[in-house]
Amino acid sequence: MLELVARLNTALREDDVEAWLSVMDLEPEAQQQQRWWFEGVQAVPMDVREIVPTAMLGVDPQRGQGLQMAFRHQVSGADPVPSLEYYRWDLHRAGTQEPARIVDVRGREGARSAYPQLWDLGEVRVQESDAVVAISTPEREQEAAELMPSLQDAARATFAEFPVKGVRRMVVTLAESDQVEQLFGESEGAYDYAGFATETQAAPQVQPDTVRDPRDPEAQTGRIVLDIDYALEELDYFGVLEGGSPLLRHEALHLSMLLGDLDRWGPEWAVEGAATWWEGAAETAVREDLFSWAEELMEEENQEAAWPPGDPEEFYPEDGELIDRHYVDAGLIFVFIQERYGQDAASAVVTGLHRLRGYARQAQVDAVLEAQLGVPEAELRTLWEAWVQDL
Ligand SMILES: [Zn+2]
Repeated sequence: MLELVARLNTALREDDVEAWLSVMDLEPEAQQQQRWWFEGVQAVPMDVREIVPTAMLGVDPQRGQGLQMAFRHQVSGADPVPSLEYYRWDLHRAGTQEPARIVDVRGREGARSAYPQLWDLGEVRVQESDAVVAISTPEREQEAAELMPSLQDAARATFAEFPVKGVRRMVVTLAESDQVEQLFGESEGAYDYAGFATETQAAPQVQPDTVRDPRDPEAQTGRIVLDIDYALEELDYFGVLEGGSPLLRHEALHLSMLLGDLDRWGPEWAVEGAATWWEGAAETAVREDLFSWAEELMEEENQEAAWPPGDPEEFYPEDGELIDRHYVDAGLIFVFIQERYGQDAASAVVTGLHRLRGYARQAQVDAVLEAQLGVPEAELRTLWEAWVQDL
């Protein structure tokens, strides 16, 4: 078994797709997908690419011996430590003396398993800049190239304001909307379907020649997925913005927070409010768009502005109504903070509230707000309500 893994790792190291495929007996479609997968992960700049066996699974009479493994990989400049994507292989031996061959490959879906990535769905193309590694399909390569400058500006601005140690760029997958849904899967901590940021299991260390899951619960990496058509429409609508793509700024802020180990335990109005505000923190046009959205919700849906809930379950009510209103109002809280107290104070509130642990209690939230703005939440709310009335 370990010999099989060693051969595959040699193939990965030597960029030899034929060697990779030579230990597999797959259906033609699955074989083609393996080729695309291999070429895809070679095209993405990585410091680490290796297969790590994580668990031997029982022998299934139909499927044969199962091996669970992780593709351990570190995207250059983007992953502070190597990431893990989990798969399951079915193995078959023609005889007890024969080497094991791979007869089926499946991804392991589930929270934070990182499967699937775009390279699991077909052929990919990769473009790089100093703040972005963008992954698209070959069909959308040209449009991805058109988006690159606005992605680059958004990523750079976000890292400048919310730096993450050891990270200078982000992995941004540009997918069509049905692919966004597939990639979303059961990702945890992923909210917005025009795009999402998700955390990924990571493994700083492995023990060679052992079968063991190397994930370290203290370590994590992250990925961003954007709906490419939404991003193109946005570029068309706003034109070139100095601060870059609002859509990427939103997800980039989430990513910066999760990579900076600033968990999402702050009140939900702060988590989504920060990201929504950050979309337009550098741009009047984007802020004005938020104001018109607020007005539209008032006039068309008869939903008045109101301080949004801190509790995630209330922020995302099951019937879906008010979710847009919550996003808008949460964003407007930080717009207000920026206007009244300045951008530095707004950014300090963002990181301060993200840093809270274990579903923040009111006293913790108040302490952050008092330290940065001099007022607790109740008072900020009164000031915000007066401001929002006059918008
Ligand atoms: Zn969000």
